Amino acid sequence: MAARCSVSHNALLSLLPRPMLSSRAPSRLLRPSKVLAMARRGFSSQEDDFASPDDLRFEPPLKIVEYPHPILRARNKGINTFDENLKKLADEMFDVMYKTDGIGLSAPQVGINVQLMVFNSAGERGEGEEIILVNPIVYRVSKKTVLFNEGCLSFPGIYADVERPASIKIDARDITGGSFRVNLSGLPARVFQHEFDHLQQGVLFFDRMTEEVLSSIRSQLKALEVKYESQTGLQSPERIDDYKRREEVAGFGRA
Ligand SMILES: [Zn+2]
Repeated sequence: MAARCSVSHNALLSLLPRPMLSSRAPSRLLRPSKVLAMARRGFSSQEDDFASPDDLRFEPPLKIVEYPHPILRARNKGINTFDENLKKLADEMFDVMYKTDGIGLSAPQVGINVQLMVFNSAGERGEGEEIILVNPIVYRVSKKTVLFNEGCLSFPGIYADVERPASIKIDARDITGGSFRVNLSGLPARVFQHEFDHLQQGVLFFDRMTEEVLSSIRSQLKALEVKYESQTGLQSPERIDDYKRREEVAGFGRA
């Protein structure tokens, strides 16, 4: 999330998480059970459909894919080959993340539809901890939720409040294929969940905004749709004016 794609570093400096019990808190609450249901669906699909070498082919330097490019909504395959190419891809993703002031980045955001994310909530090379997660699964989320002003590298310049669980427990593989389990809270939990959404059937941060918050960025989303159409000569594959909340996300957001 953020500032770009994840949360951008600059955004972080000025925007700290705040408890959601304020008067501006959205009326809809997150339902942890829905998160788990989504995670399980993701898990089953990745088990029987892994990325091929072709799926993982890339050409540096990587470029950020912006909304409304359909790659962001495509399904992401699981990874079962832990080789030098995968390490190089993760390195290149960190590279573009730092260059664009992000603190997290998912593979579909650089045009590769696989279940890989990188993040470093310090946002600077050589500071904080670089984390690479492959085929991540969320197996527990906190009941407590928080609002945070998120950005996304695929939505340059757009920031808005998104409510998410405050802490989570996840399973994932590391860059060598080793399994691990970790608890995340605070900013790392926020960044992870934003990136995890990208990997889960292409859920984007505005899918989790309240109607009110979404209205506040509607014109910016339309501007990105117009930019896509003028750059590609194609019709925008989605339009915020025709937006229908995706079923699983809507359920997730309902109190
Ligand atoms: Zn993002």
